[in-house]
Amino acid sequence: RIAVFGSINMDLVAYVDTAPASGETVSGSRFAQVPGGKGANQAVAAARAGGDVAFFGAVGDDAFGTQLRTNLVETGIEVSEMRTVPGASGVAHIVVESTGANSIIVIAGANAAMTDVSERDRRLLEGSAALLLQLELPMEGVIAAARAGREAGVPTVLTPAPARELPAELIGLVDLLVPNQHEAAAITGEREPRAALAELLKLVPEAIITLGADGSLYGRRGADPVHVPAPRVEAVDTTAAGDTFCGAFAVARAEGRAPEDALRFAAAASALSVQRLGASSSMPGRAEIEEAIAK
Ligand code: ADP
Repeated sequence: RIAVFGSINMDLVAYVDTAPASGETVSGSRFAQVPGGKGANQAVAAARAGGDVAFFGAVGDDAFGTQLRTNLVETGIEVSEMRTVPGASGVAHIVVESTGANSIIVIAGANAAMTDVSERDRRLLEGSAALLLQLELPMEGVIAAARAGREAGVPTVLTPAPARELPAELIGLVDLLVPNQHEAAAITGEREPRAALAELLKLVPEAIITLGADGSLYGRRGADPVHVPAPRVEAVDTTAAGDTFCGAFAVARAEGRAPEDALRFAAAASALSVQRLGASSSMPGRAEIEEAIAK
């Protein structure tokens, strides 16, 4: 099983020619309401890729909360320890311009309640193959989850996004760090991927730097780095490419595949997702991923 402790939001997406300036009103061309949040997106990616997934997160007692929970249940995700707290669910207010440029306001809502790990959370976490973490929850919650993972002997995987200061306490609890190129540069001060990877491996035992259309670079202490290219595809929307990659990689590793095979599986899954519009709605299923790899 893959455990995901993370954020869950309703994404409210407005499509406009040009985003309104302060005091201005503009007409948009389209509106979409889609389940999102980095944590929930990784959970959906892993479940679609064939994983048995448990999600630990919080929604509000509003209509969005009901819809967000239903979406995870329909994707086959275990939500028995998901919390419903009084007040509003998290929302991301997203404005997409015709150039593709976007601006986003995230309002944490119920996600702000994720500051601790309960005894029941620990029981459900027990025996998991991996615990996936991101940085969209309160830092004390992320640290508490990483510590619970370590105590339960579950390898912790951190996607250090959105970019934030990384406390040494958290880094010390991470087994696998999965930044994109920008996050890796922010953490290490090195823009060149191989140099950044070498720096990351001083902090954590295992790391993957995702390189967009250039694929990914994997490293483990004491072993040679491995570069796995991304399939050449026509990308139309790279939202949540990294979350798809991470969820799929975790599933492949949980099945006992070697790192290089797992990277190829993750590259195939994320390449499929970038060819379609949407975040969680664009994530491929197991059969599709296997078919893409066989080609
Ligand atoms: P993030 O989405 O977190 O910014 P990246 O842009 O590095 O992360 O993308 C994550 C992974 O998604 C890449 O390692 C790659 O496998 C896949 N990917 C992203 N963009 C493309 C693309 N244009 N073509 C093929 N694969 C892509």
